[in-house]
Amino acid sequence: MSAVSASLIHELRPKIIERRERLQAAAGSVSADYVQDLLAEVDAALQRIDDGSYGLCETCHDPIEVDRLERNPLTRFCIDHLTPHELRAHEQDLELATQIQARLLPAKDIAAGNWETHYRYEPAGLVGGDYCEIAGPSDGKPLFFAIGDVAGKGVAASLLMTHLSAIFRSLLSLDLPLREMMSRANRLFSESTPVTHYATLVAGRTTESGVELCNAGHCRPLLLRQNATERIDSTGLPLGLFSDARYTIRHIPLNSGDSLILYTDGITEAEDPEGNSYEEERLIGSLHNHAARDGMVMTESVLRDVTHFRGPCPQQDDMTLLVVRRR
Ligand SMILES: [Zn+2]
Repeated sequence: MSAVSASLIHELRPKIIERRERLQAAAGSVSADYVQDLLAEVDAALQRIDDGSYGLCETCHDPIEVDRLERNPLTRFCIDHLTPHELRAHEQDLELATQIQARLLPAKDIAAGNWETHYRYEPAGLVGGDYCEIAGPSDGKPLFFAIGDVAGKGVAASLLMTHLSAIFRSLLSLDLPLREMMSRANRLFSESTPVTHYATLVAGRTTESGVELCNAGHCRPLLLRQNATERIDSTGLPLGLFSDARYTIRHIPLNSGDSLILYTDGITEAEDPEGNSYEEERLIGSLHNHAARDGMVMTESVLRDVTHFRGPCPQQDDMTLLVVRRR
């Protein structure tokens, strides 16, 4: 019994035979050893189809992922048992993805008028599914900021994060009211994203007296005043669930010295060795210890506290923390 369906074999067999024909045609002009090796690989794949072992990993004997067989019908190992050569190629792809993603992050310490910002973006793996944007104002326009979390982990989540980033960057150039921008971002994201995926997100803009804020199902932002903390509740559904979801905007006054904190649940859901979560309360406590200081001191000390809390446990989820502070 073969590991893959008869229809997949039916689809892949002619592709393998076509490769064989191309290799034989090239045998006269290309380095002979190289072509002979490839021919042997192709023949071995055809042999595996005949004896029914095609599509099984040669190391663990589990079925190889169908999408990888479709991309390369000669694949002999599952994703967990790549050959050193395949592993190197896979790592190079991930490194490239990391570089692309790093370039999508906003500049550090963007400040404008009465406002200063600071953020830290800490993916759990090489690439992350958290989204962070700060758009520096030009021509006296307000400062735009956003933080989000794409459901899921790994490369798929990071691809959707880059997609979300592209959507917001194109919408930002249109200078729309925040509510309109959120509705359009939701529609675009819904229509171009698998139904299994969505993103929670908080976006805001600075105003004369404070900020306007829209929370699409994300962890509630915290407003740090001199001696108090306000939790700002969610005002809408995550992006990508329903294409005609509506969003409401809250106007929040900020005084000089007040800070707005946006974060992702990789911080509040970080776990210690006993399985306890970091939680919002501890985050508030940690922020208040440094509330009189600037955004950089606050973000650094929170992340240090989370690392301390986690102890020997590895980071499970992406962590992003953004401080928007009125000077
Ligand atoms: Zn395997």
